Amino acid sequence: MAGQVFVSGGSGYIAGFLIRQLIAEGWSVNTSIRNLDREAEVRGWLNVDNSKLKFFAADLMSDEGWAEAMAGCTHVAHVASPLPANKPKSDDELIVPAREGALRALRFAHAAGIKRFVMTSSVAAIAYGHGKAKQHFTEADWTDVNSPDAYAYVKSKTIAERAARDWVAANAPDMEYVTVNPSLVLGPLFAADFSTSLEAIKKLLDGSLPGLPNLGFSVVDVRDVADLHVRCLTAANMAGERFVAAGPFLWMREVAAILKEGLGPDGKKVPTRRLPNFLVRISALFDPLIRQIVGELDNVRDTSAQHAKDVLGWQTRDPKASILDTARDIIRLGLVKS
Ligand code: NAP
Repeated sequence: MAGQVFVSGGSGYIAGFLIRQLIAEGWSVNTSIRNLDREAEVRGWLNVDNSKLKFFAADLMSDEGWAEAMAGCTHVAHVASPLPANKPKSDDELIVPAREGALRALRFAHAAGIKRFVMTSSVAAIAYGHGKAKQHFTEADWTDVNSPDAYAYVKSKTIAERAARDWVAANAPDMEYVTVNPSLVLGPLFAADFSTSLEAIKKLLDGSLPGLPNLGFSVVDVRDVADLHVRCLTAANMAGERFVAAGPFLWMREVAAILKEGLGPDGKKVPTRRLPNFLVRISALFDPLIRQIVGELDNVRDTSAQHAKDVLGWQTRDPKASILDTARDIIRLGLVKS
């Protein structure tokens, strides 16, 4: 099955791999970027059949451009949402564009007669605010945005997904709405402008971490995340569905060991020693970014993708390959000094 699809946020990491796969499978893609000045740069990264890809200017916070971008499409993948590296000044800096952008994309999609709307949510909308004792999560779980561990990004993804589901139920029950909820996305890079999710690997490689904090995350490959989006766009009976896109949960010390073993001399700055929690807490007094992750120490947030495997036959690659592909591209692109 192929046709014409709109993908929001064509300058993004996940959207780029999704656009590549869609075009390789015969789709024509309309995509949005905030400013068309970046079109040539993004086309350069994507390196696809240019006749199959059209760019439109659209911002999550403005109505301009969305109707034109979706005209002629039957399917939408709404991927764009803010994912900043730094702590925002206020939670609303992320919540408002995430929620308003999702609702705007839905309104224009409904007006354009879109049949299937796939939205990129996150495990951030699933696995927070349940207390340390709960360690395993599925699509049945929802983050409690009022809990202390729900930081701005976590709130933005939860509030946006909830608002979108409520809007569809009230206004567009005929449009099939489905979410993909990825965990930490790693994998190869197109360009030096990379998603915040790769920052953890960069920090392990560049020697900026004095040791390994006791942090962990479920890792998933960007190519597998793109593939799950395509399955959600094309499989039958997707209305209301929600799919975790996650591989295994790994501690940072396990990620570091994979890097050390797989990179040889290029991994020489990867720390091997554990950073005790009290040292992380002291650093957090001086560094707002570390403050944001202090609550994550010792937490296991293991999200299961069994549902996507059962319903869609989705498969994930070995996380070692994703971690090493990320690291090798970070090094190839000169993002860490040797
Ligand atoms: P990314 O590379 O930072 O992409 C984010 C995209 O959103 C960019 O195209 C960005 O445009 C666009 N965007 C942000 N604010 C916007 C605004 N106000 N108007 C229009 N576009 C805007 O990050 P990504 O990893 O591909 O993330 C894509 C989606 O996956 C997001 O919804 C994110 O929450 C979700 N997700 C990511 C991960 C992960 O680990 N990477 C995990 C779970 C879920 P600019 O290039 O102009 O900034």
